[in-house]
Amino acid sequence: MHHGDEVFITKSGKYYHYFDDDCPTSSSILKGKKDAQKVKEEEAKEMGLTLCKHCAKEYEEDMKERQGCAGASVLFIGAAVASVEFFAYVIGL
Ligand SMILES: [Zn+2]
Repeated sequence: MHHGDEVFITKSGKYYHYFDDDCPTSSSILKGKKDAQKVKEEEAKEMGLTLCKHCAKEYEEDMKERQGCAGASVLFIGAAVASVEFFAYVIGL
């Protein structure tokens, strides 16, 4: 969930989503309950899609956390690694 990375888009959606299971839509996609396509965030914007409200909120909170102390950054990296591992597990790597 960084700007410039790939994002999820759903077939019917007007929104794009970061790969973050704090968002109900991304969570369904990560669990394989919802079909989605991966595109670059720039491409999603060009398609007229906007960032989903849930993902935007999480993104803002992460930005705030990153401005905190070094301890918070370590926790954030730990969480990011955990979600990558979770995603790898979900897609069967
Ligand atoms: Zn979302």
